[in-house]
Amino acid sequence: MNDTIEERSWVEIDLAAFQDNLQILKGYLRPGQSFMQIVKADAYGHGAKEIAEIALAQGAVYLGVANLEEGKLLRIQGITAPVLILSPSLSSEIQQIIRYDLSLGIADLDFAEALSKAATKADKTVRIHLKLDTGMHRSGIWFEEARAFYEQISALPGLEIEGIFSHFASAENDNEFSLLQETRFSEFIHALATPPRFVHISNCAGLIRGYGAFCNLVRLGIFSFGINTTAQELMLTPVMTFKSTLSQIKDFKAGDSVGYQREWTAKTCGRYGIVPVGYADGYDYLLSNKAMVLIDSIICPVIGRISMDMITVDISRIPEAKLADEVVLLGQGDPAIRAEQIAALYQGSAYELLCQVGRRARRYYRSKAHILHSSPLARRDFVSSDFGDSKLSEIISSALTQRLDSPEIGELIYREILRTFFYNKDRDVHYRKNFRHEICFERSDNPAYYRAKTTLRYQKVLSTDHFIIACAASSDILRGYILRTDVEYRWLLDSDLQLKAENFQTKAVKVNGLDLKTEIKSGEGYLEILCSHPELQKLINQEVEFEINTNTLYPTASHQFSVFITELTRGVEISFSYPKDLSHVEAVTVFSGQQRNPAIQREDHRIILKTTAEEWVFPVSGVVFTY
Ligand SMILES: *Cc1c(COP(=O)(O)O)cnc(C)c1O
Repeated sequence: MNDTIEERSWVEIDLAAFQDNLQILKGYLRPGQSFMQIVKADAYGHGAKEIAEIALAQGAVYLGVANLEEGKLLRIQGITAPVLILSPSLSSEIQQIIRYDLSLGIADLDFAEALSKAATKADKTVRIHLKLDTGMHRSGIWFEEARAFYEQISALPGLEIEGIFSHFASAENDNEFSLLQETRFSEFIHALATPPRFVHISNCAGLIRGYGAFCNLVRLGIFSFGINTTAQELMLTPVMTFKSTLSQIKDFKAGDSVGYQREWTAKTCGRYGIVPVGYADGYDYLLSNKAMVLIDSIICPVIGRISMDMITVDISRIPEAKLADEVVLLGQGDPAIRAEQIAALYQGSAYELLCQVGRRARRYYRSKAHILHSSPLARRDFVSSDFGDSKLSEIISSALTQRLDSPEIGELIYREILRTFFYNKDRDVHYRKNFRHEICFERSDNPAYYRAKTTLRYQKVLSTDHFIIACAASSDILRGYILRTDVEYRWLLDSDLQLKAENFQTKAVKVNGLDLKTEIKSGEGYLEILCSHPELQKLINQEVEFEINTNTLYPTASHQFSVFITELTRGVEISFSYPKDLSHVEAVTVFSGQQRNPAIQREDHRIILKTTAEEWVFPVSGVVFTY
């Protein structure tokens, strides 16, 4: 391994090995045959999404899962390829099967009728594969009754018979029975005027043993994960490797017994190691006194009983073994510890072993020696530190959507507010804190206008050594300034006023009390005041206090004055002072955030709106003062 993994035990999934195995299996496909990748039970414990993605890239035309839950998860993970549910479904699952666009195996008329009704009602066509029982006597319609069944199903609206399939009982070792099943299946298919698009009977063993030549689809499972259940020689590489570490090393003397029930007794003196893995990790209890592990390319026998969380291994042959040495329990190594061999030790099943192993272990996906990513062990609760940033972002976005029961608003909140924080870490998108905005209207020499003095104070992390205060002559131009991130304050000047410095004066612009230099630039419909200071460079990335004072004019005839919050802000106080002769001044707030209604306080000729210092106020909030 190039990359270091620091875990007590973990599972490595070698996606390059999976791809190599598929390559070998594809060599057995006949002309016109394609394959379905079976990803049930989380792809036999390998990770359904990861395996599905590679299989699809390698030409899989279908994915096979056990039930709705597994199919739904693939859809949520963004897999859009056709997915077939292999096990019988429940009628309570029909709605979701349709919603997630899953195909399903069918062997029951009542169910098919219910499905047909639901599909018709939803104005959808559900793709189904008829499941024939040709001798396994598990799910499926008995082949002798299948013809009538087929006719009945064909007549149901809303269903498309896209496939017909059957399953071998013992393709790996019973040639005679497999041929019987194959004959029953092929006779049924050949009696149809037009067979459906997909006809399939073989699993991996069936493919390797040459059955189902007349079929156009093969269902690949266990061999693609590097496990061979036939006697045939194949160069498959185990995809899953289960590893742990030596957590303690001890000595034994002749006559010492090790573990529960003292089932193993030392004949000579030697050394043994404790490996922090047990049957709770899927390392089967029946492997007690039977299994072996690989340490430093040396096979070491498991001694004594398997405990819930520990096993003991004889390391007498490795004098140089030390704490934290890697232990291969299953999978790739030199030599490999093959699941077929381990399972055979307790008359178990390699399928089961793959599904159960490493339940408490994090999975690391790699391509040869390079680690691509990892995924957490299964837990009953959500632990955010299990996940990386990009996965967490996905989770937050989908959780918002679910919680608000609205994809649009969930997406909006995520995109407009949260994503800025997550993705622009280096761009320093910072919120304003302790935002105080005072507006003071006084009588001016011109009866048509109030003198409007504004003071803005807030704390924010400084991101550049300059910023702009903008005065716009039209709301269109103002809007452009709202979108810009280098603008700290904007004002809309009455259209009857001339756009010149006397009508919009910046009295003082300060950062941490430092008076900034201001430079005025004017253009068509705007006045920009560039505020800067050589000292600002040193304050970048620090939280600073902004203060902006302006002195301008506002039309008396307007009878209303609006203040907008254009940035994410925490803690707001807006005050509006007005001349004594104005009465009936009201404040209408449009706040979005934690509080829709900030406290409104009235003093002599002054209205003050206030949130607590902790309260978040979202952009596009504001207040309209009417007079
Ligand atoms: C699991 C499964 C397979 C895959 O079988 P392998 O022996 O793993 O290749 C194929 N078909 C069906 C119906 C299955 O349930």
